[in-house]
Amino acid sequence: MTLVSMKEMLERAKKQRYAVGQFNVNGLSWVHAILDGAQEEHAPVIVAASDRLIDFLGGYRLVANMVRTLAEEKGITVPVALHLDHGKSVESCFRAIDAGFTSVMYDGSHDPIGINIRDTRKVVEYAMAHGVTVEAEVGTVGGMEDGLIGGISYADLGECVRIVRETGIDALAAALGSVHGKYVGEPKLGFAEMETISKAVGVPLVLHGASGIPTHQLHRAIELGHAKVNINTECVTVWSEQLRRTLAEDAETTEPRKILTPARDAIREAVREKIREFGSGGRADSAAAAPIEALESTGTQPLA
Ligand SMILES: [Zn+2]
Repeated sequence: MTLVSMKEMLERAKKQRYAVGQFNVNGLSWVHAILDGAQEEHAPVIVAASDRLIDFLGGYRLVANMVRTLAEEKGITVPVALHLDHGKSVESCFRAIDAGFTSVMYDGSHDPIGINIRDTRKVVEYAMAHGVTVEAEVGTVGGMEDGLIGGISYADLGECVRIVRETGIDALAAALGSVHGKYVGEPKLGFAEMETISKAVGVPLVLHGASGIPTHQLHRAIELGHAKVNINTECVTVWSEQLRRTLAEDAETTEPRKILTPARDAIREAVREKIREFGSGGRADSAAAAPIEALESTGTQPLA
C-alpha cells in the first residue's frame, strides 16, 4: 500500500467534473471508517489530519504510520492521499512531509498576501523535492479556523492568481462564503466569483467547510472547478449522535467495542454518502491507473 499525492486524483477529478472527498481524522475509528467507506465505493480518497489536532492524535509520525499500516492491514486498493489540513507553519508542513504525509495545506491566509506567498513557496520547494502536493488558502473561511472564530472574508481574484503563479501550488482554497462547522440558514457561496477565480487560476479549487452545503450548491461548486471537498462536521455529528444513542439504549454496557463500533459504522456510511454525492464513487481505477491524456475519450459522465 503506497499513499499517493493529490496531484493525479485532483487533475482527473477536475477534468471529469467530480470531486474527491477529504475526510478528517479524529481518532482511529475515523481511519477505519474513511478507508472502508472509500474502498466500498471504489473511490479515491483524501484522509486528512488537522494540524491543530496533531498533538491530540499522537503526532505526525503516528498519524502517518496509522493510516499507512491500517490501509495495508485492510488490503485497501483505492488511491489514498494523506493530507495535512490547515498547516499552521512552514515548519509543521516540513515535519508532516518528513513523517510521510503525501500532501500538505499551508494556511497563510491570515497573513498579508506577500507573506503568505513567501511562506507557501518555502513549503512548495520542500514538498516538490519529496513528491508531495501543496494546497494554499486565500481569504477566510467563516466559523472556526485554526481554533479562531472569525467572519467570512472573500478571496481576492488578484491574490489568487498571484499565489498560484508565484508558488506553483497544486490546489487552491479560495474562501467564497463557506463556513467551518454548522451553517445558520442556507449557505451563500459566491458562484460568480468562483467561476472567475477558477478560470483565472487553472488549478483545482478546494471547498472547505462543505458539511451542510446542499447538494445542488455542491454540484455547482464542482462544475465550477472544485475538485476537492472537505468534510469533517458531518462525520463528527453522526459519530457523536450514534454514541449517545448507543449509551442511552444500554446504560449498563462498558464494552468499548460494543460502544464504539456503531459510531464507527455511522462515520463510514456518512463517508459513502458524501462520496456518492461528490461523484467520486467508482473512480478509483481511473484515478490510479489511466494516463491523464486518455481521460477525454473514456466517456465518463460528469456530475448531473
Ligand atoms: Zn478548512
